[in-house]
Amino acid sequence: MNLILFGPPGAGKGTQAKKLAETYSIPHISTGDILRDNVQKGTELGLEAKKYMDSGELVPDDVLIGLIKVRLSEPDANHGYLLDGYPRTKPQADALTDILEKISKPIDYVLNIDVQDEELVRRLSNRRICNSCGASYHLEFNPPKTNANCDSCEGKLYQRDDDKEEVILQRLSVYKKQTQPLIKYYDDQNILVTIDGKGQVEDIFNKITNILND
Ligand code: ADP
Ligand code: ADP
Ligand code: ZN
Repeated sequence: MNLILFGPPGAGKGTQAKKLAETYSIPHISTGDILRDNVQKGTELGLEAKKYMDSGELVPDDVLIGLIKVRLSEPDANHGYLLDGYPRTKPQADALTDILEKISKPIDYVLNIDVQDEELVRRLSNRRICNSCGASYHLEFNPPKTNANCDSCEGKLYQRDDDKEEVILQRLSVYKKQTQPLIKYYDDQNILVTIDGKGQVEDIFNKITNILND
């Protein structure tokens, strides 16, 4: 299965991706997770990316295109992939088309998770992330068993620097300007499916698997 999870910040991409990757045994490739990992380790890429991430801007296309090219050439992607957070611009989408053509791994579906702004802000402002496995929690909607540690790996939970109100609003605005236009790009290729992302995590997951198993 070759999938892209698409949608605004806070739509639930990461949450659904973890479950889908497990169900279909495909690697969950989250560019946000890869970048945060680099920031944490203090790599050159991390140092370069951090200033954009903290202000809610996109990291430059050439950086992301290089990163995704390398990641998709790793052996686990031979069995399929689940992209989360990439592509976010037209140049990134065009580059992806080229890469996938070369490795003969065309996209099966672009799953577009649709959620209203007000709900996105609510979700992002109380999100907590595991510093070890990247799992995403919500203090109210999807609470961890304890407020400090991850249920599945016991990693430490933290709040992302960019999940602060002003940065959240900036990210939503960047999404609308630079990323949302890709909905039409993929709809024109007849591979886009839009899923209503409001409701229980499990119900949304079932809607997605029904589409994929069809
Ligand atoms: P994204 O990867 O699209 O930014 P996440 O998966 O990190 O989104 O989810 C954003 C926040 O919303 C997290 O705090 C997560 O626990 C919560 N969340 C995810 N899915 C739902 C849902 N269906 N209903 C309520 N909250 C959700
Ligand atoms: P979200 O939960 O908002 O969907 P991500 O974890 O996917 O966030 O991304 C966090 C930040 O990492 C983005 O605001 C951006 O700065 C950077 N980033 C991640 N993926 C990309 C990408 N494909 N292109 C440019 N920047 C990216
Ligand atoms: Zn964890």
